Amino acid sequence: MRGLYFDGKAAELRLDLPMPQTEAHESLVRVSLAAICNTDREIMKGYKPDFIGVLGHEFVGVVEKSSDPKLVGKRVVGEINEGCGECVYCKTDRERHCERRRCIGIVNQDGCFAPYMTIATKSLHIVPDNVADEHAVFAEPLAAALEIPNLIQIRPSEEICVIGDGRLAYLIAQVLALGGAEVTVLGKHEEKLRLFESFAKTAKTCDRKFELVVDAAGSPSGFETAMSLVRSCGKIVLKSTYAGMASLNLSSVVANEVSVIGSRCGPFPPAVRLLERGLIELPPIELHFIEEWKKAFDSRAFKVGFDFRRD
Ligand SMILES: [Zn+2]
Ligand SMILES: [Zn+2]
Repeated sequence: MRGLYFDGKAAELRLDLPMPQTEAHESLVRVSLAAICNTDREIMKGYKPDFIGVLGHEFVGVVEKSSDPKLVGKRVVGEINEGCGECVYCKTDRERHCERRRCIGIVNQDGCFAPYMTIATKSLHIVPDNVADEHAVFAEPLAAALEIPNLIQIRPSEEICVIGDGRLAYLIAQVLALGGAEVTVLGKHEEKLRLFESFAKTAKTCDRKFELVVDAAGSPSGFETAMSLVRSCGKIVLKSTYAGMASLNLSSVVANEVSVIGSRCGPFPPAVRLLERGLIELPPIELHFIEEWKKAFDSRAFKVGFDFRRD
């Protein structure tokens, strides 16, 4: 089988990968579309030095074999973390923090940049018929965006700033705007900011402050920008993961009594419901074949992915 493989230092397209074998609790999924996420780029830059295997964690596919026969033939998306099921995290609904967890394309489990992948059956969610593959592939980042209202109360009357004009920021800003809040998106790229205009205010610089600032900039400078934009006693939600370190002045966090909340993956069922109801605007995804992976990673399109449906 072919697939985009990371050997701990660099990615390469391999043609000699074995067909993945399912464990008793798993399903074999034939990948239809897989999308590139900033995390994939960061892994290639050294964010997860221990990871070796097939990259990719955002996908939609069809179940070919499963520990749950009802799922065979169904179109699915999948949660990326699988815990051990026994530790304190797994037993208190924090499976994605399990110290023995596997995470597809990130920790100890091959990912979806290949025509076939295995995944824990309990991680799968059926995609409603009215949701196209090109939309379903956004379920994972949309779930990550929904984790923000899952973690903190956001009043409809709230004024919020989202830092970043990329794909995750696009979904976060929409989810927060759906609750009625006034959202300002602070970005660097005119052409990307234009995409946000139907649901948020956009700006390249900002000299006012907000109760809630979400950092989805995807770079170490995001935290400093967030600190300059948050009101005293306000909240900062950090959504970016990157290789490298942010430098921060912790005294200003203390003196201004700012709450800093880290947030990563989120709940899939509400993401699938929002997609089914057509409540989220989604940018077109530029699709490549896996053989053109370099071109795909170099693309400046808003969302880029791999198409395995011709296989
Ligand atoms: Zn991702
Ligand atoms: Zn566990």
